[in-house]
Amino acid sequence: PNSEELKLLKDHIESFPDFPSPGILFRDIFSVFRNQSASQALHSLLKSYALSLKGQIDVVFAIESRGFLFGPYIGQVLGIPFVPIRKKGKLPGVVERLEYGLEYGTDCIEVQEDGGKVGQKALIVDDLIATGGSLTASCQLLKTLGVEVVECFVIMELADLNGRQKVPSKVVSLLQF
Ligand code: AMP
Repeated sequence: PNSEELKLLKDHIESFPDFPSPGILFRDIFSVFRNQSASQALHSLLKSYALSLKGQIDVVFAIESRGFLFGPYIGQVLGIPFVPIRKKGKLPGVVERLEYGLEYGTDCIEVQEDGGKVGQKALIVDDLIATGGSLTASCQLLKTLGVEVVECFVIMELADLNGRQKVPSKVVSLLQF
């Protein structure tokens, strides 16, 4: 990727200590969209990344909600469908559901059952990987559709947490923190 664009992007991601809870340094991707040059850099990086996948992916999935900022665009560059993965109860029609364990309690995600066909190659997109729990659960959910997750893509990776080790698929990140 273009190192000037990467720097511009990184410089415009604001960090908020102790949000949403003590000890978390929140990386706010939305701050990028307040700056025209940073926004353009992100757009250009996403386009190059997407074009590098040409012919390798049949469908793009993204995780609620910040993955929705990038998934549709990547799908459009590749000329393939975009399909959302959402929290329980948000998606109409017939859905596949996965309940998974968190540190405290459980979470539940859903995808529309006609969102992918058996044997299709999929990309999953999100803004950030921390522990890798969200991407891992999404990979598991998509298994129930019979699609093959060939890659997961995030803008930001919290490298110290080594979340990528947990994810049962290749993980690509633009920026590492
Ligand atoms: P994880 O499942 O632990 O990999 O966490 C990734 C999900 O939580 C992504 O959807 C992120 O948007 C969100 N997230 C986790 N940690 C942060 C953070 N430090 N800053 C911003 N978002 C975060």
